[in-house]
Amino acid sequence: TEDDIIDFRAINNIYITNKTIAPILNFYHFGLDANTLHTLMNRFKYTTPTAIQSQTIPAIMTGNDVIGIGKTGSGKTMCYLLGLLKHIKMQRPLSKGESGPLALILSPTRELAIQIHENLIPFLKDSELNAICCTGGSELQTQITELKKGVEIIIATPGRFIDLLTLNGGRLLSPTRISFVTLDEADRLFDLGFEPQITQIMKTIRPDKQTVLFSATFPKKLQQFATKSLNRAISIGVGDKQ
Ligand code: ADP
Ligand code: MG
Repeated sequence: TEDDIIDFRAINNIYITNKTIAPILNFYHFGLDANTLHTLMNRFKYTTPTAIQSQTIPAIMTGNDVIGIGKTGSGKTMCYLLGLLKHIKMQRPLSKGESGPLALILSPTRELAIQIHENLIPFLKDSELNAICCTGGSELQTQITELKKGVEIIIATPGRFIDLLTLNGGRLLSPTRISFVTLDEADRLFDLGFEPQITQIMKTIRPDKQTVLFSATFPKKLQQFATKSLNRAISIGVGDKQ
């Protein structure tokens, strides 16, 4: 209930830096479209946003870069999926001859990428949107075939995403339309040594993109990266300060 969330916030010392955005404690007030709300309530059966959702979702909806720090199980996946869906649905329709995904989600592992994809699929059923999961461990040829058909959302591990960018002389996957980037489990991305690849990817994608970073912890190296590669991000931490 809303009361639980208020208690949670009082107990857990939520810290917000830079800009303060009022938390939204009810899914109906996020400005989501009817299909998204329906999926959230009926398929996922979520009734109330978690603390991190109530604070990062409105921040993402303002179009700002956002850093969301919360421990495992705090509900970070839905923060960026709802933000991403809203972002994509607000884009203008494709002009003739345009192609390429609109949103990229970077995941440290194949297992997490698959989990994210599974969370996204129910939202895509009633839309014209397609998503693809591109990780190193799975069949490259299948990914190429899917990409050729056209996708709006790509979930990938950093190495495989770079491989796909360079394939076919860059004609298979164009990053030019990507305007929403998510780094999920950013601390693990760094622990696994993906920093050079991520920095490269961030430079390849248009400078006016919106970037959101989610992580359980926010170590120094990640803070330095965020300062360098994000654009005046709003950072929101839920739980005990690390
Ligand atoms: P994190 O990425 O922060 O570890 P997840 O996004 O994986 O957290 O969510 C953890 C669990 O909480 C999942 O089982 C998810 O279905 C559930 N969950 C997420 N948001 C809500 C919500 N608003 N209400 C109830 N359960 C939720
Ligand atoms: Mg997660």
